Amino acid sequence: MTRRVLIAGNWKMNMLRAEGEALASALAKDFAVGAGADMLVCPPATLIAPVAAVLNGGAISVGGQDCHMNESGAHTGDVAAAMIKDLGGSHVIVGHSERRADHGESDATVKAKAEAALAAGLVPIVCVGETEAERDAGKAEAVVEAQIRGSLPAGATETGVVIAYEPVWAIGTGRTPTIDDIAAMHAHMRKVAGSMLGSAGALLLLYGGSVKPGNAAEILALEDVDGALVGGASLKAEDFLAIAAAA
Ligand code: PGA
Repeated sequence: MTRRVLIAGNWKMNMLRAEGEALASALAKDFAVGAGADMLVCPPATLIAPVAAVLNGGAISVGGQDCHMNESGAHTGDVAAAMIKDLGGSHVIVGHSERRADHGESDATVKAKAEAALAAGLVPIVCVGETEAERDAGKAEAVVEAQIRGSLPAGATETGVVIAYEPVWAIGTGRTPTIDDIAAMHAHMRKVAGSMLGSAGALLLLYGGSVKPGNAAEILALEDVDGALVGGASLKAEDFLAIAAAA
């Protein structure tokens, strides 16, 4: 089964309009359709429209970092999946560990958000990952399995959802699991997701957490790693393009 590699950038709460537009145009200038990977950028909600305008339906897609579980209504400050779709979005990240921690999002919340994304025609990128204490206790695979079982949207197909493995302790720290640990986790994730979806041979499994140009090739070469979710290194065109080129 050939799976097309997806390199996704999570810009988090960074950049004002001019910076975001400049980054998008630097990426668009040097990233070509037919490159070895698909590229997606997820700017803050305020920048989805201007970034989409710069990318102009070309080789790079745009997505959101979160969406509400409801279609619309009295939810001050929130953004609905259809609003992201309306601005040209194709994907939305749900259940990032920073959302799970900062906003107390449970697996059930993440699942409902992923279902709202599907209903709006977006591909949810469902994030899972253990804490350092959980890994040290030998529970990493069990924790991630429980998160997948609790967060994967009902009605998903293997090509309609993406799962990102992001160990909490590897995010923004410069530390990553060993290559063998990433390989083992991703193989386990595909097995678990396959048991839920019927099959998972076409499902994209991204690795995230301190991905940078220097470690991308080794991580992306793993059989069950189908791309990366990149935070810090997605804020510099040169680094993000180098990660995509390593695929
Ligand atoms: P990082 O973040 O690449 O800066 O570690 C990844 C993420 O949180 O998605």
